[in-house]
Amino acid sequence: GGLPNADGVVQLDASCMDGKTYNAGAVAGLENIKTPASVARLVMERTDHVMLVGRGALEFARSFGFEEENLLTERARQAWLRWRERLSDSDDWGPPDHLRGGDGDSGRLLEGPEEFHYGTTNVLAVDGNGDISGITTTSGLSWKIPGRIGDSPIIGAGLYVDNSVGAAGATGRGEDVIKSCASYFIVMRMREGRTPQQACEDAIDMIVDRYRAIGNDFVPGEKFVAINKAGDYGCARMPSGGNASITVRHGGGLETYEGSSRG
Ligand code: ASP
Repeated sequence: GGLPNADGVVQLDASCMDGKTYNAGAVAGLENIKTPASVARLVMERTDHVMLVGRGALEFARSFGFEEENLLTERARQAWLRWRERLSDSDDWGPPDHLRGGDGDSGRLLEGPEEFHYGTTNVLAVDGNGDISGITTTSGLSWKIPGRIGDSPIIGAGLYVDNSVGAAGATGRGEDVIKSCASYFIVMRMREGRTPQQACEDAIDMIVDRYRAIGNDFVPGEKFVAINKAGDYGCARMPSGGNASITVRHGGGLETYEGSSRG
C-alpha cells in the first residue's frame, strides 16, 4: 500500500540488524516484493554482503521463493495520478486547455486529497537476555525520483543496533537522516550515558542546529525512536515529523508512549 515514485512504481527500502551477532542486511529500490524486511534479513543471514539494490535484490528475493506481485494499490495509484496532474500548471496532464476553467486551473485537477507522505516503520526489540535487534522498512518518500534511496536501508542512518548499548531507528526526511548518520549518533549518545529519550532529542537538536549554523531556518521533518539494553525507550520528532507516539510491547501487553516534539 505504499505510495510510488514519480513514475508510478513502488520501490521499497529495508534494513535489518542483529546486535548479538553484529550482523546486518539491507535491500534498496526493491520492486514487486511485498516484504522487503524479510529479504533484508536473508541478505544478513545468507550472504556475506550487507546491501543489495534494484534488480539484484529482486533476483535474490526470487531465488529464495518470494513471489512477485503488483504493489501499486488502487488507492496509491489514484493518489499518484492526482499528484501527476497537480504537479504543474504548464504541462499537458489534465483536460485540454480549451476545456479548463477561466483561471486556467479549475477543471484541471482530479478530485481527491493531496497526499505527500513519509511512511516508514521502525521496529526495535530487546529480549530477556538483553540481546537487541531492529528493522526499518518503507516505500520511502512518495513521488521520489526513480532510483532515489532513502535512509531506511542504510545502516547507521535509518537503523543502528549496538548490543552493548541499544538501538535506534528513523522516519521522515531521509536525506537529513543520511547526512547526520542519525541512528548511529543516537546509539553513541546512549553509550555516553544519555537516556533513549534524551538521545533522540539530541539528534533532533543536532540536525536543526546544523541548518541554523548555515543561517537557514529550515526545520526538516524527522522522528527518531530508541531503546536501550535495560528496555527503556524514547521518541522525539520535529514539528512536521508526524506524531511523537510509539507503540510499546512488553510482558504486560501493548501501550502507547508519547515522546516529545522539538525544533
Ligand atoms: N525515511 C524515509 C525515506 O526518506 C521516509 C519515511 O520515513 O517514510 O525514504
